[in-house]
Amino acid sequence: MKDFDIVIIGGGPIGIACGLEAKKKGLNYVILEKGPIVNSLFNYPVNMQFFSSSEKLEIDEIPFISKEAKPRRSDALEYYRRIVTSNKININLFEKVENIRKTADTFTVTSSKDAYTATNVILATGFYDIPNKMNVPGEDLNKVSHYYNDPHYYAQQKVAVIGASNSAIDAALECYRKGAEVHLVIRGDEVGQRVKYWVRPDIVNRIKEGSIIAHYNSTVKEITENELVINTPEGEVTLENDYVLALTGYTPNFNFLEKIGVTLSDDEKRLPSYDEKTMETNINNLYLAGVICGGMETHKWFIENSRIHAKMIVKSILSKKQ
Ligand SMILES: Cc1cc2nc3c(=O)[nH]c(=O)nc-3n(C[C@H](O)[C@H](O)[C@H](O)COP(=O)(O)OP(=O)(O)OC[C@H]3O[C@@H](n4cnc5c(N)ncnc54)[C@H](O)[C@@H]3O)c2cc1C
Repeated sequence: MKDFDIVIIGGGPIGIACGLEAKKKGLNYVILEKGPIVNSLFNYPVNMQFFSSSEKLEIDEIPFISKEAKPRRSDALEYYRRIVTSNKININLFEKVENIRKTADTFTVTSSKDAYTATNVILATGFYDIPNKMNVPGEDLNKVSHYYNDPHYYAQQKVAVIGASNSAIDAALECYRKGAEVHLVIRGDEVGQRVKYWVRPDIVNRIKEGSIIAHYNSTVKEITENELVINTPEGEVTLENDYVLALTGYTPNFNFLEKIGVTLSDDEKRLPSYDEKTMETNINNLYLAGVICGGMETHKWFIENSRIHAKMIVKSILSKKQ
């Protein structure tokens, strides 16, 4: 069994920032990541452009140079991978953490490959693994996806995009521009206000001119092999349909948090309990870092404002060592 000062779970931007900070402060750490380096970013749409400018995505003030002010997925993959390799960050890839147990002052972290003991654990597992389901008949058909990758796939197809936030709007515009017939199904009465400021006018104008057909105040009722049935203010509407991209957001793994004993608020926000100064949870020496902290409020934390968690946590760990 390997013994560490800190086991960091999740090798996203914030888990890597924690590893870097631990290394700088001379702590013995390992990052366990169930996929490749920055797995969530790897699974973003191929053409994805961040809403943040590159300097706001930097960790530990290591310059992030990108051609455009707002970097793309490929720039970010390059940046975070180089941080890991140049700084010789201790990260085990394709190793999923399955359980964390605490006895006395020691955590035992069990993964798909091994077991580790540690004095401290940082949970930086993000929210990109579990999509918000629509819970409608047909949602498990092969033609339905909660992730979107490449518009080329949808050329000459009838595509329904569900959602009104950045992921849905990017997918709708890209698919339309590759020759898909796009219907956008929006629960509210407008395109999301948080849609990237340079993208919003584009989608609003494509809807206005009828290039993309928006159904406002509408929800999905049922999906079949060739159709999509939606509830609209005018009643039920049946659309011919080849693919459904249900881009309705994601949630942190609440079951895992509860299983290991982290207290969640009992309202719909399901906020995990932690000290805002140290990021330590209700379990001594178990810390949260990154976007996992927001519970259902997944827009609250992002790389820009959560990269500071690394320094806060390592400071707290060091203060207890003295
Ligand atoms: C489409 C999209 C665009 C975004 N654009 C921006 C932006 O422009 N600017 C910004 O600041 N933020 C943006 N965000 C938000 C934020 O960047 C991401 O959520 C970011 O990835 C958060 O970093 P993180 O390290 O907290 O979590 P993640 O990057 O999600 O990292 C969590 C890691 O934990 C791993 N993991 C999960 N469970 C386990 C387990 N059991 N064992 C081992 N490993 C595990 C995952 O594989 C993943 O690699 C965007 C998010 C999305 C979805």
